[in-house]
Amino acid sequence: ICWSSKGGWHRPRVSPYGPISLSPAAAVLHYGQEIFEGIKAYRHADGSIHTFRPEENARRLQRSARRMALPELPVEYFLQSLRELIAVDGDWVPSGADQSLYLRPFMFAKEAFLGVRPAEKVAYYLIASPAGAYFKGGVTPVKIWLSEDYARAGKGGTGAAKTGGNYAASLLPQAEAYEKGCDQVVFLDEDGNVEELGGMNVVFVMKDGTLVTPESESILAGITRDSILRLAEDRGHRVERRAVSLAEWREGVASGEIVEVFACGTAAVVTPIGALKASGFEDAQPTGTLALELRQHLTDIQYGRVEDVHGWLTRLDG
Ligand code: PMP
Repeated sequence: ICWSSKGGWHRPRVSPYGPISLSPAAAVLHYGQEIFEGIKAYRHADGSIHTFRPEENARRLQRSARRMALPELPVEYFLQSLRELIAVDGDWVPSGADQSLYLRPFMFAKEAFLGVRPAEKVAYYLIASPAGAYFKGGVTPVKIWLSEDYARAGKGGTGAAKTGGNYAASLLPQAEAYEKGCDQVVFLDEDGNVEELGGMNVVFVMKDGTLVTPESESILAGITRDSILRLAEDRGHRVERRAVSLAEWREGVASGEIVEVFACGTAAVVTPIGALKASGFEDAQPTGTLALELRQHLTDIQYGRVEDVHGWLTRLDG
């Protein structure tokens, strides 16, 4: 579907997967005016196809659009794009535990010009790809590299938007993480508070059962995190959204105040953090059972194995 400042949203269509034709002067190629989302479609045992809290992705795409001076796609158009893709490509939604169809909505500036200003011609696309189980052979704790040289976002920056530039900025620190034998990178903000991983939010489980998660204007508000925390609240856990310094993290683990640390996001759902490594230290992280129990509960809802008490599922077929 296309957008222009004069015509608004127009020309919705479904077409076979293939290359996009763009002017070499298309604004997205030079200034990165681009946003995206990540969401999955799940096949239930009865064959029906569902997605999880898609309105939240639609609203987050709108917030990203505002920050990146792109037009806001109406929530209904977003949902319709998911339904229409499933109507033609529903067969691609795999069945089987932890299998899904990954849906990638994205929007970019396609107007051709070289000045720096918001584009007046924009395109919204939705593509999809089957995704196998993220963890083959069981969920295993990951080792995290603490990025001290690089930031992902800053105050007033684009950290809370799902825009390509944030991910471009995370590639070098992520490569550093691999070099250091780690799986993922964790970023701090300029005050030394924990932000998030390259593509997942962080949650700490305290000894008294409270779940604490970093909150700031530069963190991407994860839908998985929000859902996991809601399930924890249902079980009677307290939840705190507040700044968490690196010192609090390290001291909390050393003293036993923090009993579990995990990361969460659409792709892996929940993954325990088994170690935190930096240039000067390596701290083993305590692991427990809460992260995995919450993961199980959330995936049971997504795959229709337990009742969806919060009304989080939206049926996409039929
Ligand atoms: N933080 C970042 C930077 C991400 O890219 C993602 C993945 N979208 C998340 C957190 C987790 O968000 P969600 O649970 O909505 O997938």
